[in-house]
Amino acid sequence: MKLLDYRNSPKLPRNPANPYYWRRDESIISTIVIHHTAGNGDVFQVTAADLLRDWSSDGSGAYGPHTSYHYFISPEGIIYWCNYHWEIAWHAANANTFSIGVALQGNFEPWTDDNGLLHSNNPTPAQLEALQWLLVRHLPANGVKLGRDRVYGHGDPWLQQFGNNTACPGANMRQRVIGYRTKGVPFAMTTENETHVYFPETQHHLSLGFLVWWRENGGLQILGYPIGEEESGPAASEIQSQQWFERGRLEYHPANLDPYKIQLGLVGRECRALQERVKELEAELGAA
Ligand SMILES: [Zn+2]
Repeated sequence: MKLLDYRNSPKLPRNPANPYYWRRDESIISTIVIHHTAGNGDVFQVTAADLLRDWSSDGSGAYGPHTSYHYFISPEGIIYWCNYHWEIAWHAANANTFSIGVALQGNFEPWTDDNGLLHSNNPTPAQLEALQWLLVRHLPANGVKLGRDRVYGHGDPWLQQFGNNTACPGANMRQRVIGYRTKGVPFAMTTENETHVYFPETQHHLSLGFLVWWRENGGLQILGYPIGEEESGPAASEIQSQQWFERGRLEYHPANLDPYKIQLGLVGRECRALQERVKELEAELGAA
């Protein structure tokens, strides 16, 4: 995946009069907000670099410190990392303090031009693949471990309560975000290759380290098919990512030495503890 670190790059200068956004403790981050850039008509006429430069400082002090999103994804699927997570960038009214802003370059809200011609752009496959990678791989590896239930479109009803009454990220993107958040439908159905396989049986993917482990350890027989996508590990754990299968769960522990980086979750122990808890609750109810 191509990620360009523009956080402190001369290619994207910061406003010298106001170089950084306000600082926050990163533990406050609870939400990821997805945007489209809109307003720029057919985005394929401008480059990401043009767009980013437009929004960054002109040195007058009249602008914000930098591009207003933490991440910007071009139609080619290049991810521009624009702001530090500790910066409270300006992208969603009254929700900036606790959120990370991710913008996809493009206008995904259909519109009719002066000649009555309907335009209806979709995010590109490369863009969606980059977004999926950002959410599942990059953010958890960089301290932002949130469940997919914390990923919202800018104008989602949940964000409207803070004053975000907007069509962003456009009708052609909105349903994808809702599907991802509520049902775990991945943004990208990436093409199958040696490191990435799609299982039509359960309609889920298996990638990279988990795929290698699955293949080398009797995958189908031991674990069965994946029943979800790879997702962030629990917030207060050293598990960076995890994935559920018909017969268990794989966990990625990057802090461990090989071969203990990928481990089977302790699902038997967890299941037993839950059963015990159910018994206790039943006993409490019976005694009441
Ligand atoms: Zn937006």
